[in-house]
Amino acid sequence: MEELYDVIILGGGPAGLTAGLYAGRGGLKTLLLEKGQDGGQIALTAELENYPGQLLEGETGLSLAGRMTEQCRRFGVERAADTIQSVRLDGPVKELTGERGTYRSRAVILATGAAPRPIGCENEARFVGQGISFCATCDGALFRGLEVYVAGGGDSAVEEAVYLTRFARKVTVIHRRDRLRAARSIQERAFANPKVAFLWDSVVVRAEGTDVLEAITLKNVKTGALSTLRADPADGMLGLFGFTGYTPNTGLFAGQLALEEGYISTGEDMSAGLPGVFAAGDVRRKSLRQVVTACADGAVAAVAAERYLQAQ
Ligand code: NAP
Repeated sequence: MEELYDVIILGGGPAGLTAGLYAGRGGLKTLLLEKGQDGGQIALTAELENYPGQLLEGETGLSLAGRMTEQCRRFGVERAADTIQSVRLDGPVKELTGERGTYRSRAVILATGAAPRPIGCENEARFVGQGISFCATCDGALFRGLEVYVAGGGDSAVEEAVYLTRFARKVTVIHRRDRLRAARSIQERAFANPKVAFLWDSVVVRAEGTDVLEAITLKNVKTGALSTLRADPADGMLGLFGFTGYTPNTGLFAGQLALEEGYISTGEDMSAGLPGVFAAGDVRRKSLRQVVTACADGAVAAVAAERYLQAQ
């Protein structure tokens, strides 16, 4: 019989890492499962301005996540790197099966987060990594001196557009409406930046190029008119970053948990509808998705899991 954990945390973003910190510190035998690098979406973020107390010069999402990981380790959280392919969440013992094995626990905290939504244009898959990107921190420097376009109008699109001006000659935000969704403070920074331009009422419908992205075709959603933006011949390519929102990573839980628009519905204690099952972070239905709220969810979920286990 393989080891039985008190709690397994699925996902190593801020929600999962905070749940790990609280569960480990609470003396629970805890396993944290993560398929890639820790940090979730903040691992892709260059600057974190709105995490309380974050005033360190040069702090990136990745460096903050690194300290969260270290804190989990100090409190005895065990780790496994695996991609979980199926879960069994009912019954007193939860079972998570991945490529490398099956993991069992009496409680689980699901902190699988969300993944970037595709831009939705023709040829998108062909040009990912060849001009199309979903991570300004990872790929911004590849577009030094070039023209870059950003699809989307929310906090991510506008904040990352400003960040991309460090590298790009010009950054144009392409938004499907005539007003941004982004917070006012973020908008103001973009409007004040002479390298940031806006194309309103437009969506990207096609990407083109021989090997790398050389042109994008936009559609004006009000008039239906199509227009093609081509890379300057001297540049040879252009960049297109997609920040059109996120899709929750809940495919594994469909049929076992109640989902609302794909997100896990939870109670105030992060309970997810089955005994011993909790959810935390961007994967759950909530009004504000921030690092600080992900961390708060993780703490609440771990304490609720501890209480659940004590009552068994
Ligand atoms: P978001 O708020 O869902 O915004 C997505 C944007 O993409 C919207 O402007 C939306 O347009 C547009 N969009 C959606 N589908 C599209 C499509 N098919 N084609 C073209 N455009 C499309 O996503 P987000 O900006 O990534 O933010 C996600 C969450 O993280 C939010 O809660 C946000 O507040 C938070 N966040 C916070 C910060 C911060 O506080 N510094 C930074 C980043 C993210 P419409 O406006 O027309 O719907």
